[in-house]
Amino acid sequence: MLKLSSLAFLVLGFAFFLCFIMSTGDGSYDYFQFVQQWPPTNCRVRNKPCSKPRPLQIFTIHGLWPSNYSNPTMPSNCNGSQFEAKKVYPRLQSKLKISWPDVESGNDTNFWEREWNKHGTCSSRILNQMQYFERSYEMWRSYNITNILKNASIVPSATQTWTYSDIVSPIKAVTQRTPLLRCKSHPTKPKGQAKSQPTSQANSQFLHEVVLCFDYNALILIDCNRTAGCRNQVDILFA
Ligand code: 5GP
Repeated sequence: MLKLSSLAFLVLGFAFFLCFIMSTGDGSYDYFQFVQQWPPTNCRVRNKPCSKPRPLQIFTIHGLWPSNYSNPTMPSNCNGSQFEAKKVYPRLQSKLKISWPDVESGNDTNFWEREWNKHGTCSSRILNQMQYFERSYEMWRSYNITNILKNASIVPSATQTWTYSDIVSPIKAVTQRTPLLRCKSHPTKPKGQAKSQPTSQANSQFLHEVVLCFDYNALILIDCNRTAGCRNQVDILFA
């Protein structure tokens, strides 16, 4: 009896060990998600105000995430060298301050550090730290979501709503690949606002992120797999 329970304990321990290895991992992944975010949405759903009173009105980088098809939030926090600001600074600091700002608390370097340590470490066999940030900047420059939407007359508005395909179509037309949209639901009680929202806002969701997918080497744009990023059949606000 005792033997059986210790065997079960051993098996359970081994399973936990395996899970741990897989979660911290060696960084095996299938493809990259290049995630751009719309800062006003970050600030709208955050539980405290953003550092800037008026958030930027351009899509900025959230991150470049090596991902698995079976679980796109993995891998993360892989073994490997942690963030070193000196590897980024001389060449890239000014470019990243524009393309990859910390739109929430304004601490850009901390944000880059977190993204590198959580995601960049998992693809460091393909992209070293310098290349990881440089490649992300090039992606941001090459696929300017703000302009792509503007050219399709999709501009921020407090009242106009869009369908998922309204927003995806112009991006697909330019990139020839299917992107992924991620939305945030309207906070029940908007931060710092006593007034109730217009009905168009109450029953909708806010566009938060646009994801472009790249191959294993982060060079070739590929179709993203549609995962639940926005609620189906619910209007989308871009505001
Ligand atoms: P991940 O950590 O997987 O890259 O992304 C999720 C986290 O990133 C969330 O906790 C979200 O709040 C945070 N995040 C997204 N954009 C920003 C930003 O501009 N600044 C900061 N400080 N955190 C951010």
